[in-house]
Amino acid sequence: MSNRSARYDYTTINNLKHYITMKRAERVAESEGKPFLIRDIEDDLANYCQVSRETIQMIKRMVNQPSLALGIKMAEYFGVPVEELFKLVPKCPVCSGKDEVGHDGVKSKCLSCNGKGYVA
Ligand SMILES: [Zn+2]
Repeated sequence: MSNRSARYDYTTINNLKHYITMKRAERVAESEGKPFLIRDIEDDLANYCQVSRETIQMIKRMVNQPSLALGIKMAEYFGVPVEELFKLVPKCPVCSGKDEVGHDGVKSKCLSCNGKGYVA
């Protein structure tokens, strides 16, 4: 979790990895043996949302936060309410969501949130 914005003490996490895995399983079941990869689903989702697969991956890894419109569009793709896909959580109060803390100029993983940057 590397949301560097110090503006808010809250952020969102997501279940995107889970929903991509589920969608892939669904496609594999429908396709009578044609293999579907995780990246195929990511490509399909990216096309549906008119963004790059890299954008999807950055959101999946929670490096980037989607815009509200993109978040809603992603939920639409999976046919779930947006709050199923995204959850609002408080940022870690120790590292303020930066997922690392500095001691004498040396940065190390925040032990309070285990480097996640949020409390859930
Ligand atoms: Zn922390």
